Formats: sequence, C-alpha cells, structure tokens
Amino acid sequence: MTNEDSGFNTKLIHAGDVDDQFGSATVPIYQTSTFTFENAEHGAQCFAGERSGYMYTRLANPTIDALERQIAILEHGYGAIAVSSGMAAASTIYLGLLNTGDHIISTDAIYGASRTVMEKQFVRFGFQSTYIDTTDLEEIKKAIRPNTKVLYIETPANPTMGITDLAACSRIAKKHGLVLVVDNTFCSPYLQNPLDLGADIVFHSMTKFINGHADVVAGVIITKEKAHYTQLRTMMTNLGCNMDPHQAYLVIRGLKTLGIRIDRGQDNAQKVAEFLEKHPKIEWVKYPGLSSHPQYELGKQQMRGSGTMISFGLKSGFTGGKVLMNNVHLALLAVSLGGVETLIQHPASMTHSKVSTEDKNNAGITDDLIRLSVGIEDVQDIINDLSQALEII
Ligand SMILES: *Cc1c(COP(=O)(O)O)cnc(C)c1O
Repeated sequence: MTNEDSGFNTKLIHAGDVDDQFGSATVPIYQTSTFTFENAEHGAQCFAGERSGYMYTRLANPTIDALERQIAILEHGYGAIAVSSGMAAASTIYLGLLNTGDHIISTDAIYGASRTVMEKQFVRFGFQSTYIDTTDLEEIKKAIRPNTKVLYIETPANPTMGITDLAACSRIAKKHGLVLVVDNTFCSPYLQNPLDLGADIVFHSMTKFINGHADVVAGVIITKEKAHYTQLRTMMTNLGCNMDPHQAYLVIRGLKTLGIRIDRGQDNAQKVAEFLEKHPKIEWVKYPGLSSHPQYELGKQQMRGSGTMISFGLKSGFTGGKVLMNNVHLALLAVSLGGVETLIQHPASMTHSKVSTEDKNNAGITDDLIRLSVGIEDVQDIINDLSQALEII
C-alpha cells in the first residue's frame, strides 16, 4: 500500500492495488458486463445508492476502479473517470459543462480533433468557441465574453510547443468564474500536475504516455472537486463512453513504468533536439528543453522535465519533408506519441495533405514542419537514423 508521502514511482507500482481474495500481485481483470445480487433487496439497495456494490460495468467495475483510484492519486484529484479514448474525455467534458449558448476559450494549437468536434459538431448544439494564443495572457482576457464558461488549455501544445502559464490562467478563471480545464496528455502526471496550479479539471489521452506502449486507445478525466466529478461521471455513464476492463488492465500495466520511460525518453529528446538545432539542414527546432524556446523559463517552473516531443522545420520545406519520411529506417512513420518507440510524421505530406490551407494555418501546420516523438531506444541510434536521412535531402 502507499500513502501520501510515498514517492511517485512507488505510487505507479502500488497505488491502485485491489483487495483481492486470492492475494493476486496484479489487478485482476473482471471481464464481466454485469454483477449478480444476493437477493431482490440487495439489488434494490445498490440501485438506490443505499449500499455500495457493483451493478453493471458501464457504471463501475473493480478493474477500472483500480486504475481510476491510481490516476486520481497521481494527479492529486478528488476522483478520476476512465473513458474509452482521449476524445471521449474531451466530449464528456464539453457536454457535461456546457449549455446551449455557452462559450469556451481555448488554445489555438490544441489537438486537432478537440477543436474539430467543437467547430464542426457541437456548434450545432449552440456551443461557441474562440481559439487564441493562450501563451499570451492578454489575449485570454480580451476573449472573455459574458457567456464564457470554460477556459480550455493544452500545454505544451503541439506543433508550436507553446507553454501556457497555468497558475496565471487559474487566477483569470477564478476572477471571471470560468472552469479551467487542462489537457495534460503531453506531460502526464509525472511532469505536471495542473490541479496543483489551480485547474479544476484535467484530462489525458492515456493512449499516449500513460499507457506508453502503442497498444491501447484510452482516456481519463480527473477533477479537483466532488461536484465536477459527479456531474461528469453522470454524463459519462449516460453517454456510455466507459472503458473496458481489459483496456483498463493494459493501461495499469503500462502505467507502472511511466517514470522510467519518461526519464529515458526526455534524456534522449534533449540530445536529439541539440543535434537538430546544430544541423545545417534544419531551420528551427521547438523543444521546451532548449534555451531558444520562447517560454523556456516558464517551462522550468511549471514542468518537472521537458518531455519527449520535438517539432522542427526543414530548410528544404515540403520536398525535404517527403525525402526525410522516405529515408528514416528506425523511426516509425506514424501519428500518436508518448510510446516507447520513436515516431516521426510530416503533417503536410501525410496526415494533413488534404486539409485546407486555412485549417492548416489554424493548426499551426507549416509545409516544413516535422513532428518527432522520441522513444527510449539508444539515443545514438535515433541520431544516426535522422542524420543519414538528412544527408540524403
Ligand atoms: C491523442 C490526443 C488526444 C485524443 O486522444 P485519443 O486517445 O486519440 O482519443 C487529445 N489530446 C491530445 C493532446 C492528444 O495527443
């Protein structure tokens, strides 16, 4: 068992322990959709909330509970709600907090689907949204309207890798009665705890660092207060975007090594970023661990490390990007991030090749931009791979 004073890595191994009758060393998978009652009275009491007990997996399940308890401890929250994906978390938050006519302010470079679902889907329900550069606090203040309800921040936000001051956002949110929501996917609780900096709600795509092995899609919401927890859990169970017990088991397994994976990954990322910054074929590099990063000092204060995500631009632009993609051998050409393997992506020729220039500009996607999620391989192999591919350009 762990207590509040246990270290982060100890909590990663033990915080979700279940009280299993056979003494299982790992969290058992309760692969069941439903739970039986002893008699009619027992069933009635459970459904009336007069007695605790499991009823149906969409509502709660012991394997999923173990993961939720652990994540709530790691993020210093009241409680956690595990869901089927990061986007299920974002949608549950939007639908749980907003009414028709409400307005949200958000980071312009947030994860693409978090913005698309708002601008292309929820706009039909009358939700209003404004996307701005939230690294500039004056921009946030200017965007506040009488109907603004939520300030929704992603930091660092890819591809700009811009870092938003969470403590300052919390002060603005409190002054104007806004709920501060933070997408903490890029940091994981190992590098940043937004609730400690004044956020009300945090969420993760656990598909990325928390699971870390590129074999699960999953999400989680953590709230500071009980009221938000109840509101969002009710929305989640009504929507039915719950996690599956087997998915929870895999995330619990991946989570155990979060600390050592990030330590190694960000050590590698620092060296890769320094290599890229010196390379003659590279125009620019954005990485929180480089002193050239515009919010380098803020990153040092707010985060306990620089993470494993780098974006950089090639002098040879679009053509160079394609050549680089077709000549790396170790890095995998793939979207996603935060796994043990190094992933590389050239949005302009790959994921965003059919996207309009306006939408690309909104997302900060330039033709020369390369995204790199640095894995835990031997760093010299990662550098050698990039180096030989850059030679070919
Ligand atoms: C991947 C990602 C999401 C969406 O998560 P899914 O698990 O793919 O649904 C949201 N935010 C960020 C920052 C992400 O990287």
